Amino acid sequence: MSETYIVLLGPPGAGKGTQAAGLARSLGLPHVASGDLFREALAKGTELGMKAKAYMERGELVPDDVTVAMMLERLAKPDCAGGAILDGFPRSQGQARALDEALGARGGGVSRVLYLRVAEEELLARLGGRWICRDCQAPYHVRNQPPRVAGRCDRCGGALYQRADDSVDTARERLRVDFRETARLIEYYSVAGKLAEVDGEGRIEDVAEALVAAVGA
Ligand code: AMP
Repeated sequence: MSETYIVLLGPPGAGKGTQAAGLARSLGLPHVASGDLFREALAKGTELGMKAKAYMERGELVPDDVTVAMMLERLAKPDCAGGAILDGFPRSQGQARALDEALGARGGGVSRVLYLRVAEEELLARLGGRWICRDCQAPYHVRNQPPRVAGRCDRCGGALYQRADDSVDTARERLRVDFRETARLIEYYSVAGKLAEVDGEGRIEDVAEALVAAVGA
C-alpha cells in the first residue's frame, strides 16, 4: 500500500499530541492535528476561524460539516499524498464516515487506528499535575516533566499556570465525556478491523516504539 493514513485516538492526558508528532517523524509523514488547524484559523481570523470560534470558546465540538471540509482540504495538499498522522480527527462517527468516503474515492483508506490506552487513575494524576506556560504554551508536569525552575518555563522563562479544567473534578468529567465520544469510534474502527490498542503508560520512548510496531502489525 502506498498511502499510510493513521488515526491516533486517546483520552486527554494520554500524550496523544506528543506521540502523534513523534510517530509522524518516525514514519516521515505530516502530523495533522485538527485542534491546531482550528487554532491557526482562529489566530489568522479566516472565515473558517470565525465559524469555529464560538464552539471552541465553549469547549464544544465544531460541527461536522465545517470540520470535515477543513480536514479534507488539508489532506488534499501535496505533502499528505503519501499519508498523514491524524490527531484529534475524526471525533465522531459522522467524521469517520466522511473520511472513509474521501479516502475511498481516491482508492485508499485509513490504514490503521491506534488507541492509546491509559487507566483513568493515571490520567487523573497526569491531568491534575499539568502546568502550562502563559507565554509559549509549553506543557509541564509536576511529576513527569517538571520545569528546571519551579513556576518558570524552561524555554522562554514565562510564568507557568494551571488551567481551571486541569483540576481533578473537571478532569474526571472531561474524561467521561471524551470516553463516550471515543467509544463510538473504537466500535466503528474495530468493526472495520483497523483498531490496535497500545499501552500508553510506559516511558515516552517505549510508547513511541509500540506505536510504530502497531502500525506495521
Ligand atoms: P483539541 O486541541 O484537539 O482539544 O481541539 C481544540 C478545539 O478544536 C476543540 O475543543 C473543538 O472545539 C475543536 N476541534 C478539534 N478537533 C475537532 C473535531 N475533530 N471535531 C470537532 N471539533 C474539533
